[in-house]
Amino acid sequence: MDDCIFCKIVKGEIPSTKIYEDKEFMAFLDIGPVNKGHTLVMPKNHSETFLDMNERELGKIMHFILI
Ligand SMILES: [Zn+2]
Repeated sequence: MDDCIFCKIVKGEIPSTKIYEDKEFMAFLDIGPVNKGHTLVMPKNHSETFLDMNERELGKIMHFILI
């Protein structure tokens, strides 16, 4: 989505401090952290909520978050 800040981060149009990246997911430090190490984990496919993700993506991101 062209006006989505997170899609721009994925494309590298907005800089971020990446913690992890693979072909489907990306994790980076929040610019307004509520505590040290506050990290955002997101799929690279545009998804506004978990409801926009398919079952396989949900399973993978939950596994990713819990590691
Ligand atoms: Zn997006």
